[in-house]
Amino acid sequence: MSTSAERPQDAPELKLVFDEPKQKVKPPKHFADLAPEDRKARAVELGIPAFRANQMAVHFFTHYNDDPETWSDIPKDLRETLVKEFVPQLITLVRTVTTDGGKTRKDLWRLHDGVLVESVLMRYTDRTTVCISSQAGCGMNCPFCATGQGGLTRNLTAGEITAQVVAAARICATGEMPGGETRLSNVVFMGMGEPLANYNAVIRAVRNITAPQPDGLGISARSVTVSTVGLVNGIEKLREEGIPVTLAVSLHTPDDELRDTLVPINNRFNVKEVLAAADAYAEKTGRRYSIEYAMIRDINDQAWRSDLLGRLLKNRNAHVNLIPLNPTPGSKWTASRPQDEAEFVRILENYGVPVTVRDTRGREIDGACGQLAAAEITSEA
Ligand code: SAH
Repeated sequence: MSTSAERPQDAPELKLVFDEPKQKVKPPKHFADLAPEDRKARAVELGIPAFRANQMAVHFFTHYNDDPETWSDIPKDLRETLVKEFVPQLITLVRTVTTDGGKTRKDLWRLHDGVLVESVLMRYTDRTTVCISSQAGCGMNCPFCATGQGGLTRNLTAGEITAQVVAAARICATGEMPGGETRLSNVVFMGMGEPLANYNAVIRAVRNITAPQPDGLGISARSVTVSTVGLVNGIEKLREEGIPVTLAVSLHTPDDELRDTLVPINNRFNVKEVLAAADAYAEKTGRRYSIEYAMIRDINDQAWRSDLLGRLLKNRNAHVNLIPLNPTPGSKWTASRPQDEAEFVRILENYGVPVTVRDTRGREIDGACGQLAAAEITSEA
């Protein structure tokens, strides 16, 4: 394995997008952008008694109701201010596509400036998971990921991220999905975007998701997964937040040589550094982390790579999640052969590394990994 010292001196310096990219029109401010105590202060600023902030939180986070016009315990003359200043509609449903007999649904949302993002809701026998977007587009440029191809359009606000989860919780609670009413149990940041490149908004959203009702949705932190390309400084900050969300690291190969291409940010934070940050995260939170590994035929699925990965992970508190590559339009890459995948799994298991193969829910609706909104943008272009 090469180390940072062996990296070519002329490796391009990657531009990190940690700050808010330029936005033409700022998204409307929403009370889900604020911590509970700041919601009260903002209410007072708007001439609304502080206790009303709590009423609003009950509507939004306990009843999943985002339409102040229907909040009958709030005086009518206040509702207009709420709609404009406090609980504006942040996401508007454009289209829903379903598959698996309705147990997987992809929702396409339009934001205030016309930008499109998607979320995918998946109902299983024992849980219901929503996969949400943290950015419109992505700046990380991984060549196998459809989102990466268009670059970053903009960061989503905490309100825009939270709104996707509230919408999913509402769909579950109203029994819109086959199987009747259920509870949204899991949230994964595996839609569009690199969550740790939009750190502050993502953390506010995570707090909204995990805080007990009515301050938040009351979903347990261990049921929330933040998936990252491996922004080491972001992982280190997350470790200090005291919210034990599950960390997923998109490794995709154990060697720096190939990872420099598959996950270009590796030129900045290499395999060794990323795993060290994930180990420290696991140590602090007591949570096992996931290693995401897209299986790409003849690119990263060789037995020797599995062997290297097994040696790298055998004494770590990690488990491997293999994802059959979901080919992006126009790419020459495709998913691994079944026999190569089976051999890859076998080798890892020999090292005692826990490994699962991700199901490929949502493929037929371009809802699988890295495909979100890309098909829509292409078809609208
Ligand atoms: N930026 C975050 C979230 C991205 S999506 C991250 O990189 O972790 C979640 C996972 O889907 C990541 O592991 C990503 O690498 C993977 N992915 C992206 N495109 C894919 C594709 N075409 N096939 C399989 N997995 C893909």
